[in-house]
Amino acid sequence: MVDFAAIRKEFPILDQQVHGHPLVYLDSAATSQKPQCVIDAESEFYRTINAGVHRGAHELAARSTMAFEDARAKVTRLVGANAEEGQEEIVVTAGATAGLNLLATAFGNASLGRGGAAAKRFALKAGDEIVVSKAEHHSVLLPFQELAARTGATFKWLNLTEDGRVRTDNLDEVITERTKVVAVTHVGNVTGAITDIAPIIKRTHEVGGIFVLDACQSVPHLKIDFHALDVDFAAWSAHKMYGPTGVGFLYGKREMLEALPPASFGGSMVELAWMDQPAQYMLPPARFEAGTQPVAQVVAAGVAAEWMMNIGMDQLEAHERTLAGELLKMGDIDGVRILGPRENVDRIGTVAFDIEGVHPHDVGQFIDAQGIAIRVGHHCAQPVHRHFGLYASNRASCGVYNNVEDVHALLEALGKVRPFFGA
Ligand code: PMP
Repeated sequence: MVDFAAIRKEFPILDQQVHGHPLVYLDSAATSQKPQCVIDAESEFYRTINAGVHRGAHELAARSTMAFEDARAKVTRLVGANAEEGQEEIVVTAGATAGLNLLATAFGNASLGRGGAAAKRFALKAGDEIVVSKAEHHSVLLPFQELAARTGATFKWLNLTEDGRVRTDNLDEVITERTKVVAVTHVGNVTGAITDIAPIIKRTHEVGGIFVLDACQSVPHLKIDFHALDVDFAAWSAHKMYGPTGVGFLYGKREMLEALPPASFGGSMVELAWMDQPAQYMLPPARFEAGTQPVAQVVAAGVAAEWMMNIGMDQLEAHERTLAGELLKMGDIDGVRILGPRENVDRIGTVAFDIEGVHPHDVGQFIDAQGIAIRVGHHCAQPVHRHFGLYASNRASCGVYNNVEDVHALLEALGKVRPFFGA
């Protein structure tokens, strides 16, 4: 049995008062808090082995390179990818947004003929199609919309069910022989709904397309195996999985990464550079890691990945499912409308809601005055809000450190919102 009370104590930030109340942190979908071991890993790196990686013959450079690659291997294990040297499938990025932009830019470069014959599979032209879903975070929506605009490809999307799930009943209509790229979120950051990605991936591959997964809200909460899922690419951020800000990871099937042209150019990604000849780029993952890397943060992200695996993703998932069940009880409060699945099935402990007659910013402030942190606004997902007929909403989201008491504190506070505002 995992001792979740002891796990909570590993998060120093949670041990504080906010506005005279014990802090209740229910905003992990925006960013998670960090356990002491992750905080320590970053400072320990700076105190003992700080040096640039993959260059320099000195001992510290060798140790920091080892720590950096060891972190990559830990993250690899967390998501079920290849770890063997020369077969790596995990690229270090600056975050999910950076990873998704890397892909869109690389596909754009392939469309210009860069990367040679191998990169042709990523090239887009007028008449081709890019498909996303209406549930996307702007970090998926915008890079792929821009890619469509740059290449002349047609931009299409999968619609949502009434409760905000990505619809999979008309895949053959939306994903066609002309579809080259499909990019879909694994878990909606507003609705908390887990997308039924298997049929979408199957259909994408049937038509010869490339499937890109936004794994930002799944890697921190669910047991993931990218090989078993058969996704071609996946992007996520370390800061939502108990790791530091400023780093993220891009998974790519090895043969995809080997065929993909680079998106960003500079030091540490080139084998040979000349004044009068084209450069020869390194093999992945180095080809996609131009410039000095955030080594301390990557090392700490590796510690976060290992920390999650030590808890056990099954255990973590089960704990958060219990919290999701409690959170969903907010639907019984007068005037509270849940935006997303109301049943505790195929969803995570992220629940967005609207309170009739009270603006989300007023809700957020009222809740904050009681020491409870939730997110208000459009959560970088405007189309999904339009789907619900709203511009903004409130969102409570759990992490492994939350307990049932946190959720009950929120429910109690929510019950007071409408009476307080006279709504
Ligand atoms: N996709 C989803 C589903 C997200 O929730 C987020 C973060 N809110 C992102 C992408 C972008 O992540 P980041 O801001 O860390 O790059």
